[in-house]
Amino acid sequence: MDHQFRMLIDGDLVEGASTFDVVNPATAASFAQCPKADAALIDRAVAAAKHAFPAWAARPIEERAGMVDALADKLEARAAEFASLLTSEQGKPLDQAMYEVMGSVFTLRAFAAMRLEPTTLRSEGGNTVIEHRTPLGVVAAITPWNFPIILVMNKMGPALVTGNTMVIKPAPTTPLTTLLLGEICAEVVPAGVVNVVCDQNDLGHLLTGHKDVAKVAFTGSTATGKKVMAAAAAGVKRVTLELGGNDAAIVLDDVDAKFAAQKVYGSAMANAGQICVATKRAYVHETMYEEFCTEIAKLAQAAIVDDGSKQGTTVGPVQNKMQFDKVTALLDDARTRGTVIAGGEPIDRPGFFIAPTIVRDLDDDAPLVREEQFGPVLPVLKYSDIDDVIARANDSEMGLGGTVWGKDLARATAVAMQIDTGTVWVNQYLAIDANIPFRGAKQSGLGGELGISGLHEYTQAHIVNAIELADA
Ligand code: NAD
Repeated sequence: MDHQFRMLIDGDLVEGASTFDVVNPATAASFAQCPKADAALIDRAVAAAKHAFPAWAARPIEERAGMVDALADKLEARAAEFASLLTSEQGKPLDQAMYEVMGSVFTLRAFAAMRLEPTTLRSEGGNTVIEHRTPLGVVAAITPWNFPIILVMNKMGPALVTGNTMVIKPAPTTPLTTLLLGEICAEVVPAGVVNVVCDQNDLGHLLTGHKDVAKVAFTGSTATGKKVMAAAAAGVKRVTLELGGNDAAIVLDDVDAKFAAQKVYGSAMANAGQICVATKRAYVHETMYEEFCTEIAKLAQAAIVDDGSKQGTTVGPVQNKMQFDKVTALLDDARTRGTVIAGGEPIDRPGFFIAPTIVRDLDDDAPLVREEQFGPVLPVLKYSDIDDVIARANDSEMGLGGTVWGKDLARATAVAMQIDTGTVWVNQYLAIDANIPFRGAKQSGLGGELGISGLHEYTQAHIVNAIELADA
């Protein structure tokens, strides 16, 4: 494409030390060039953010929030352009891309409206104790390739409103929408407040280990999250880790099988299954297992799998070759252990397409059940006893999300209360909202994003404990 993408450093849109190809996953062909930073450019970006921090932190919050609102306005005005670029680099169907862009606008506006007021913890006998929240400094925001825009917003909204400055590093297979966002930031916020740098999975450690980075806000795999946490340890940096998941859906025996199949299908196959809180294993009561399997297989077979830019596409490609190979390997293994009732193969065409796949009759120890597949392949498992299925759902190192489907809301909610994850949705899925905290349990994360507690994560609690002097 014609657009020349540039990084944002200290208010300037700059070229990289080199460039690399960005591939459209629907064609497997390069369609744009991305600038790549080197160690010196990373240093410049951190130095710019450090330099900009005191003045930015000192501005009244209304001014900072006003600029976050202005970013939302500019993003909304260019929503169609962002959505189209998102589909080209990420692969998701255009309607889902637009949903992500508008969700990003909503997220920025939600954070622009939030405030952290000082709290008086004590006021008695001449002793006043006040807790207020101060910004941390330079935040390194590191994002993955499945939701390249909105996962930046989950960090940018709270970081900027609370007075931090930022260096953002997107994933190398989906850097372009973040670079476009950098162009908007260059128009709206003072130089150095937001910087955007790109790499090829090789420079992130320079940010996580940088002495002038106060906090790392990371979304990505659990394996990389552990490296981020280790690197942050040296400087006792603040970290937020939003990591992988292996979310279970539990379908109770009082719900309509066809309805549940539609919902579970939606929560497993949106964004071609590449969602941290996608349903990654479904447990269905034995009384409706056959009907559920039949219905969900029909939905998978009816999917329109194509280039996300084509009208009517419901499932796009897997985002990159490495992920395509990983999902294909899990599928090959699952075929030998269970019964494939829909899909089951990569699609023979250019691009990283895998037919939406349903596998039944697997044991709980099958890799497709135990590991995070992060692709359009869903195992459907049978259960008979509710306590047993809760234990099976909880038997995971992950603990991100999950869903429970049941007509008796009290019973379904009681089951949800026993699922050991950060979020459980009852009779709905993907109900992520900037005003509701989102965080992972166990190895799915540390700290969290969104909501007022998400704002807290970008601040230090500062206690001022004052006592009046007695008259001399
Ligand atoms: P990844 O861990 O491979 O990469 C994420 C980011 O980390 C990229 O920007 C990458 O360049 C960077 N990175 C790589 N090595 C690094 C290092 N040593 N130090 C610092 N940064 C480094 O993840 P991915 O494959 O891009 O994304 C998929 C994963 O993200 C899945 O596991 C998914 O569940 C998870 N995810 C989690 C959430 C959540 O909110 N919990 C949301 C979306 C995705």
